[in-house]
Amino acid sequence: AVRIEHLNKAFDDNVVLRDVNLTVWPGEVVVVLGPSGSGKSTMLRCINRLETPTAGHILFNDEEITGSSKVRLCEMRKHLGMVFQNFNLFPHLSAKENVMIGQVKALGRTKEEAEAEAVRQLGAVGLADRVDFMPAQLSGGQQQRVAIARAVAMHPDVLLFDEPTSALDPELVRGVLDVMRDLAENSGMTMIVVTHEMGFARDVADRVVFMEDGLVVEEGLPGDVFDHPKSERTAAFLGNIE
Ligand code: ATP
Ligand code: MG
Repeated sequence: AVRIEHLNKAFDDNVVLRDVNLTVWPGEVVVVLGPSGSGKSTMLRCINRLETPTAGHILFNDEEITGSSKVRLCEMRKHLGMVFQNFNLFPHLSAKENVMIGQVKALGRTKEEAEAEAVRQLGAVGLADRVDFMPAQLSGGQQQRVAIARAVAMHPDVLLFDEPTSALDPELVRGVLDVMRDLAENSGMTMIVVTHEMGFARDVADRVVFMEDGLVVEEGLPGDVFDHPKSERTAAFLGNIE
């Protein structure tokens, strides 16, 4: 499980997260919703320690991530994959090489093992015929699917997604959401997904979390949160989006 306890994060005197508490259970798919600036990305970045929390605790399988040594942090990051809004592929590496590099460098797999896994994972996201393409030769949706294949090839326990479709042209969104839905339903991986895709949240999430102003304002089953929001702020947000 990922357990977030009393998480606080400030950038200088700008308090961005104030007492966030959230536990995500193994295999659970949690979708995080909330307006721009509510702290969603910052929370994800604290989980894999791209940001250092100001106060509070984050535990991964009961081990504290906050304040871990560099070595332990490196070890724990292997269990946490992340997919970013802007794909973050290495531009000078092919799709296959992008999926291989972390396996070789961080997990110590041989090139042969990494290549076989890369081909497998690129096939799973529908890119079997694009393995040798460079990122610039791929559409945004294809690049994002490479990024997902790259994360999955590391076999993390937890996959974090930060608005994976919001940089995509509308016609490319579907293919990426389909890949994510397949992972959610068939991989058993724990997923924490920040997205504005309400249909995905409703259909795929086990639980929806609504954040505002650095706080978790509401959480629950998608049907409950969407159809009977408890907080006025959630209702107003959902009303504006849908
Ligand atoms: P969006 O939906 O627009 O992506 P978000 O919910 O992901 O928004 P965050 O990116 O977590 O919001 O940002 C929350 C607040 O933290 C914002 O006010 C932002 O300006 C501030 N912030 C985020 N990162 C930094 C940083 N590195 N330095 C200073 N302030 C930051
Ligand atoms: Mg964000």
